[in-house]
Amino acid sequence: MPDTNYPKEFLRFLKTRLPEMLSTLQRLVLTESPSLEKEPADRCCDILAEEWHKRGASVERIAQKVRGDQLRITWWPQKSRPAGQFLVLGHYDTVYSCGALAKMPFRVSGGKAYGPGIFDMKAGLTQALFALDALQQIKVPLHHRLVFLWTSDEEIGSDASRKLIETEARRSDAVFVLEPSLGPKGLIKTARKGVGEAELIVSGRASHAGLAPQEGVNAIHELSRQLLHVQKWNDLRRGVTVNADVIEGGTRVNVIAESARAVLDLRALRVADMRRIERRLHALRPILPGAKLEIRGGFNRAPLERKSSAALFTKAKAFATQMGLSLGECTAGGGSDGNLTAAVGAPTLDGLGAVGHGAHSANEYILVNAMPARAALLAALLMA
Ligand SMILES: [Zn+2]
Repeated sequence: MPDTNYPKEFLRFLKTRLPEMLSTLQRLVLTESPSLEKEPADRCCDILAEEWHKRGASVERIAQKVRGDQLRITWWPQKSRPAGQFLVLGHYDTVYSCGALAKMPFRVSGGKAYGPGIFDMKAGLTQALFALDALQQIKVPLHHRLVFLWTSDEEIGSDASRKLIETEARRSDAVFVLEPSLGPKGLIKTARKGVGEAELIVSGRASHAGLAPQEGVNAIHELSRQLLHVQKWNDLRRGVTVNADVIEGGTRVNVIAESARAVLDLRALRVADMRRIERRLHALRPILPGAKLEIRGGFNRAPLERKSSAALFTKAKAFATQMGLSLGECTAGGGSDGNLTAAVGAPTLDGLGAVGHGAHSANEYILVNAMPARAALLAALLMA
């Protein structure tokens, strides 16, 4: 911990920059960037590239065929060699199609700023930009090379960016994720459930339900039995949930169902529980004679266990205290790219982005006055 109260200095400086923060944020929000529309997304990527370039950071644009381009931005101003690397992770894609702005325009009212993707996570991206401003202004000697990775497909599962994220995380001593915080107090996400999707596919044998029932094997009956069994794996106390949320099967009421399938939502708070669920899934065997059972899928994001973020959270709390603020934590039931970085062994602190509410809804907003402190907190973490 440095002797000087840098966090407080960052905060003092960033409070004076709030009008610029807000206008940068406005520009990003007005440039709609849906995960599924490359051209508009690329325009948002242009703005980000330009802003970082303006600050003297080295900007590498990673071209994408289908999705918006990705940005890998590096900042290391000193002549000496860095002791290691810190990764700041964010995505600029949003869940809103182009045109959403017409129904939810950018506006500031009552201390809140509204607009598509403002909370998840254009305000977070803006805060990172101004965190760099603070580091440049206060001239703190850094120990780590800073890498900022802005991806374009987080909202649709990060298929195009996953490898890049994992590679960069493996090289990093810590990862800071700019996903939104939780609630009006801006709780940091120190744990996230691992998430997955599995499919149970049953094949039976069709037969006339009245003329030859003995020749049929009812796939729906088989699937029902399997689900009764699977349902027992739920353990809310441990944060394990298994839910059949889609089910289909059969053709007509007088035909014994030949096929049926269920899609399961899988979640677990601990890696050990995730593995146990996967083992159990693959150990399922048909119950009715003649039925066949196939299992597909499984977890695609491991849990971000609290132990991956505990040390970083302690640091963040201490910095907040230096700024005269308090910082709380929470566990999120959903995954983010932070799950991917924790899974490769990188200490990860998530939910460092904006304070606000209503992600993925028509009423998405951020608390404007919380931006300087969040940016100052990030700056402090990056200098440590
Ligand atoms: Zn997000």
